[in-house]
Amino acid sequence: MSARRIVVLGRQGAGKGTQCALLVESTGIVHVSTGDMLRAAVAAGTELGQKADAVMKAGELVSDEIMIGIVAERLAEADIMEHGVLLDGFPRTPSQADALEEILHGQGVELDAAINIDVPIEEVTARMMARGREDDTAEGIARRLELYEQQTAPLLQWFADHNKLVVVDGLGTEDEIFARIEAIL
Ligand code: ADP
Repeated sequence: MSARRIVVLGRQGAGKGTQCALLVESTGIVHVSTGDMLRAAVAAGTELGQKADAVMKAGELVSDEIMIGIVAERLAEADIMEHGVLLDGFPRTPSQADALEEILHGQGVELDAAINIDVPIEEVTARMMARGREDDTAEGIARRLELYEQQTAPLLQWFADHNKLVVVDGLGTEDEIFARIEAIL
């Protein structure tokens, strides 16, 4: 199968990470989670990590400039050119979406699909309160969800206009949701 480039969208707590892990197992595609990359940078104490730490704890977004730089670099690596990519957590703003289009265009490839794992706000809030990551405080969760509605939700229309959007019902067991995604791909 040729290398596919897929964006996974969905509110915080919608199960993007879980579904990406299942897709990696079944397809060999490369999972790129910008949140995981940032958390690794924080843990390693790199310059990026030092910049991102406070921003992430507050539930705010790391700047577009930084994020676009990191992702552009990652997308050029050989494993992704060969096996394709599942982008999780990027793009999150309209300018990140524009940048992604440009990066892929520069590589002579296109986005194959944007999958939105759809879970209502009340449900994702409950899930995040239960998982208890360091940035999963009540204020942090509320702020991240607010930014999602403001900055990321409008991208759904953008992907729909480009005929790339697929919506998957994100309520159910992990296996049920995975079966829905596989049926689409
Ligand atoms: P969540 O989806 O629960 O917010 P992530 O792991 O995707 O979790 O992201 C954690 C944090 O990392 C975000 O709150 C934000 O501060 C930062 N981050 C991740 N991806 C991006 C991005 N594309 N643009 C800006 N900030 C990002």
